[in-house]
Amino acid sequence: MERVWAAYYLYMKNDILATGLLFFLLHEFMYFGRCIPWFIIDRTPYFKKYKIQPNNYPSNKEQWECTKSVLKSHFFVEALPIWFFHPICERIGVSYDVPFPSWKTIAVQITVFFFLEDAWHYWFHRGIHYGVFYKIIHKQHHRYAAPFGLAAEYAHPIEVMLLGFGTVGIPIVWCYFTRNLHLFTICIWITLRLFQAIDAHSGYEFPISLHHFFPLWAGADHHDEHHHHFIGNYASSFRVWDYFLDTEAGQTAKQTREKASKTKAEKAAKKNN
Ligand SMILES: [Zn+2]
Ligand SMILES: [Zn+2]
Repeated sequence: MERVWAAYYLYMKNDILATGLLFFLLHEFMYFGRCIPWFIIDRTPYFKKYKIQPNNYPSNKEQWECTKSVLKSHFFVEALPIWFFHPICERIGVSYDVPFPSWKTIAVQITVFFFLEDAWHYWFHRGIHYGVFYKIIHKQHHRYAAPFGLAAEYAHPIEVMLLGFGTVGIPIVWCYFTRNLHLFTICIWITLRLFQAIDAHSGYEFPISLHHFFPLWAGADHHDEHHHHFIGNYASSFRVWDYFLDTEAGQTAKQTREKASKTKAEKAAKKNN
């Protein structure tokens, strides 16, 4: 991998072009590549028992329109800033030489990015659910009450930039302070974050889904509830923020909240008496 990486930069002769092209292609291949299995699963009756909203399948027309819109966003919103990525990385000291950092360093940094991105996503996603912001920015993403993989990046350009900062900007800020980050780590991080976002929109919950083994992980059922109820479950990767700030979505969470506020009101009334 290190040899291919070094040969690629040598072959391209232009580092700005090499990084820009690498990230553009990485994004396209990983995004659409990860969507293909979900597209097939949607057309395989066997998997219906795992569909979270079994009576709500996306039509071919909806999927096609979504694909066109996502492609438009990739080419017209993301393709331009991607060319500034290499100069920014160079300026703040993101390394792109070989050898790569150790797997341990890569794993630790990516874990940190997952938690930081989750916090960023929680607050800004919650923010764009507020009145006028929802109407102007976030309504587009909520077009599909039963999400599907391709809908992960179906969003208004402002939302793409705002929430995208959590994925691309956080590693840059991290490197600004630590001066310790490799471009290869960013490639792996972006790939894993794309997989997380697409899987969260897949609309499927399996007995082997990650959150059954790692209860902090949000997964598809968490984000599906968000699309279904239009409210609550604002975080991206973990369940922590929504749990502690009492913003969980769904009927059960709503009933628990109502019960808690009723008990609180009763206690207050007793105290006053
Ligand atoms: Zn939302
Ligand atoms: Zn969504």
